[in-house]
Amino acid sequence: MSDQILSLIYTFSTKFNDPSTKLPFSKENNNISAIVKDGNANIFLEVNNDNVSLYKDTLKKLKSSIQQIPGVLSVNIALTSNKASKKQEKKFKIDAKNIIAIASGKGGVGKSTFAVNISVGLKSLGFKVGLLDADIYGPSVPRMMGVSKKPEMNENKKLVPLVSHGVKCMSIGFIIDNEAPTIWRGPMVMKALEQMFNGVEWGELDFLIIDLPPGTGDAQLTLAQSSKLSGSIIISTPQDVALTDAKKGINMFKKVNVPILGMVENMSYFTCDKCNEKHYIFSTNGVKKEADKLKIRFLGEIPIDKTLRKQSDEGTPYIVHNPNEDIPKMFISFAKKINEITAD
Ligand code: ADP
Repeated sequence: MSDQILSLIYTFSTKFNDPSTKLPFSKENNNISAIVKDGNANIFLEVNNDNVSLYKDTLKKLKSSIQQIPGVLSVNIALTSNKASKKQEKKFKIDAKNIIAIASGKGGVGKSTFAVNISVGLKSLGFKVGLLDADIYGPSVPRMMGVSKKPEMNENKKLVPLVSHGVKCMSIGFIIDNEAPTIWRGPMVMKALEQMFNGVEWGELDFLIIDLPPGTGDAQLTLAQSSKLSGSIIISTPQDVALTDAKKGINMFKKVNVPILGMVENMSYFTCDKCNEKHYIFSTNGVKKEADKLKIRFLGEIPIDKTLRKQSDEGTPYIVHNPNEDIPKMFISFAKKINEITAD
């Protein structure tokens, strides 16, 4: 009987998200454990104790949900402090209300395209936005945002970001020599990332969007451990191989307690110029299905679009080029969703 109750407790708990990390309370997320004895359920939630007041409502609802389980006589929920809150103060300092990492398991899936267009989208909603290109293997923000100048140093010996389409931009490509062999880049990334936070005059920002290098390497871990990341957004194409890589990235963020704000499917379909029909070239709803399985928010899909590619590669993001067309409107809606999620 106790085992049955225990299993139901774990099933019910996944319906509730930790209000601080936004992760569901589940065994996989290591943020809940429970003991049941003689119908008395003792639940332990690992939470961020900097924000205990945030949990009041969730605790009440979780408790009343567990009380419904047949055989449960009493429910006691205790909060324990999680590792994130025990961590020392973050080393990377920046005056940004939200820091969001855009990540993907592999390259070429549209991570930079998304980062650039939502940065301009958030700016168009009236926010102060910074865009940090941390993709050491292929920094593309300068090209996509049309900035080519090297940033200058101010009197405080800090680099001044280059402003393009109203967004403050800084790229690791300005710090790490483009010609440097790839093998040197990994070890350079931690130092370079620190410089891109502490050595840049970002000023006050509502959003700092970070275009991460693909994969699950040093940059992700450094950022997760050294900066106050609000969360990450995972970009994937519908193919299986990209999804497998994306899942590895998701697991890495979970391990270091970085909330996953959502998944986006890029290159979902192609609308034919002639017949105006949507062609799902790879598969249908691949990323959405995976997001549902992993209990991660699905933020939406982006089709394959010639103008999106052309505008990105020419340095004028599509969203700037013509904000009233369908694709730019999609990015505005992504930007609105991101603002809503982070305001929760
Ligand atoms: P990543 O940052 O994941 O390496 P990019 O954003 O640099 O990927 O995109 C790779 C290439 O694909 C770029 O040339 C970009 O313009 C193009 N691209 C990305 N998304 C789309 C899309 N939805 N439709 C058409 N081209 C796209």
